Amino acid sequence: MVTCYIAIGSNLGDRKQYIESAIRRVRTLANTKVRRVSRIIETAPQGGPAQGAYLNAVFEIDTDLTPYQLLQELQRIETALGRVRRIIDGPRTIDLDILTYGDVIMSEPALCIPHPRMLQRQFVLVPLGEIAPQVLAGLLKKRGARKSKKAPGTVSRKRTHGKKSKKKRRP
Ligand code: ADP
Ligand code: MG
Repeated sequence: MVTCYIAIGSNLGDRKQYIESAIRRVRTLANTKVRRVSRIIETAPQGGPAQGAYLNAVFEIDTDLTPYQLLQELQRIETALGRVRRIIDGPRTIDLDILTYGDVIMSEPALCIPHPRMLQRQFVLVPLGEIAPQVLAGLLKKRGARKSKKAPGTVSRKRTHGKKSKKKRRP
């Protein structure tokens, strides 16, 4: 079994009901156990058109499904719960994103793991930190190592223009 973290969000209709019923459906997936569920938090929408606030959570599963099988099952649950994709970053009854799948790293058009934007999203960082602080710390450390690999070139280039480099900080 592989341990995975999944982000869940809703900002349409009975948001809490959608989140709870999506997690109930994940519990019924073959060869899959839901181990931990974070608290649900309310967050302001990021990007996209003007839309209502989200409820967000993160949960941990152990599964024998492959990454693509898991994605397919999550998309099936989204569809069953009325998810319609009309506008990018638009309002949705339910969104289920795979954050991590064990230690797997993949970057394909239909599936990127770890989720590429997860570390920029407070609505992921807070609930993930609640249920899996060690996993979050590991991901942040890896990102730190990647950034410092890039840093020397950036710093020296900026210094030749007589300016001190400003550290880039993401929200
Ligand atoms: P959002 O980026 O707002 O979550 P969608 O839920 O509509 O948008 O997903 C768009 C596409 O993102 C999906 O069809 C899926 O193939 C792709 N995708 C890539 N990586 C992931 C991931 N880690 N988890 C879920 N979907 C992903
Ligand atoms: Mg999604």
